[in-house]
Amino acid sequence: MERAVLKVLKTHKKFLISMHVNPDPDAIGSAIAMALYLKSIGKTVRVVNETPCPQWLDFMPRTDLYETVDECKKFVPEVAIILDCGELERIGKVAALITAKTEVINIDHHVTNTRFGKLNIVRDHYSSTSEILYELLKQAKCVFTRDIAILLYLGVLTDTGSFGFDCTRSHTHAVIAELMRIDLPVSDLYRQVYETMPKTDLKPFLKLMSTLTLHDDERVACLTMTKKQMACFSGAFDVKDKVFSFLRSVKGLEVIVILTEQDKKKTRLNFRSRGNFDVSRLASAFNGGGHKKASGGYLDAGMILSKKKILSAIGAQL
Ligand code: 5GP
Ligand code: MN
Repeated sequence: MERAVLKVLKTHKKFLISMHVNPDPDAIGSAIAMALYLKSIGKTVRVVNETPCPQWLDFMPRTDLYETVDECKKFVPEVAIILDCGELERIGKVAALITAKTEVINIDHHVTNTRFGKLNIVRDHYSSTSEILYELLKQAKCVFTRDIAILLYLGVLTDTGSFGFDCTRSHTHAVIAELMRIDLPVSDLYRQVYETMPKTDLKPFLKLMSTLTLHDDERVACLTMTKKQMACFSGAFDVKDKVFSFLRSVKGLEVIVILTEQDKKKTRLNFRSRGNFDVSRLASAFNGGGHKKASGGYLDAGMILSKKKILSAIGAQL
């Protein structure tokens, strides 16, 4: 499969690269790394997402290449490379740039991946799309510049929870060892990802955390975030990730769910689990998917009804 993909990269000229809405460092890192490689061999490339680059990820190398779909409505790519998406729907409105003639390449590591591409490199035992991309670019004889190395490093770092999740394999560390041949500023990168919460966000954060509810013999933690609560934060850090990483450190919590208000009748769901609870299965029942221990979806309902539905589904699966 890799060979077929590399052939498409070599023989075509115009590429669209996209990744899931509200992208994380793995999505952005793999997308921009792929773009830099294709540019280095003389291709026309646009990195397009439905939503703007999150402010807290602005520091990643070459985010100047990142565009929103509104900025490239007239782009007609020959090939669309979709990264870090379990389903094509995850790219949202960017799908409008893909026609029946576009060759779709799907590169991803989600266990729920639907193989939506003409060519699919799906490795659900890989920690991250960045880890897959490292191998692919190596096969392509890509020169790993400092920017590419940092982008892929950040993707692997964050998707492995700083090398603490089960998806961290010996292969993952081997890839990191290769990337670190270039003298990467690891402590600076760590700080820029995890330690940027402004002091002004601290009180709203503590206030939000105080609304947490526990269920099913305190095995399940649930946090709801209204639009109004979200608006209290600066955007300089990832609120949900901070909530998850804090709650992950609490012994005995098996399932953590965050509900975010999208509008009066739509609620976004984000799940994390510890132990054996499979949240990808749970998310599949709520218009989503993901990994066994991290997944997401949504409900066409308001926050109160969504909370009821989701807690009842978790209770049934426990
Ligand atoms: P997060 O909670 O960080 O947004 O997502 C956790 C994991 O689940 C990520 O790997 C993400 O790509 C995946 N995920 C989140 N939401 C969805 C969704 O709506 N559909 C699918 N297929 N995967 C999702
Ligand atoms: Mn990923």
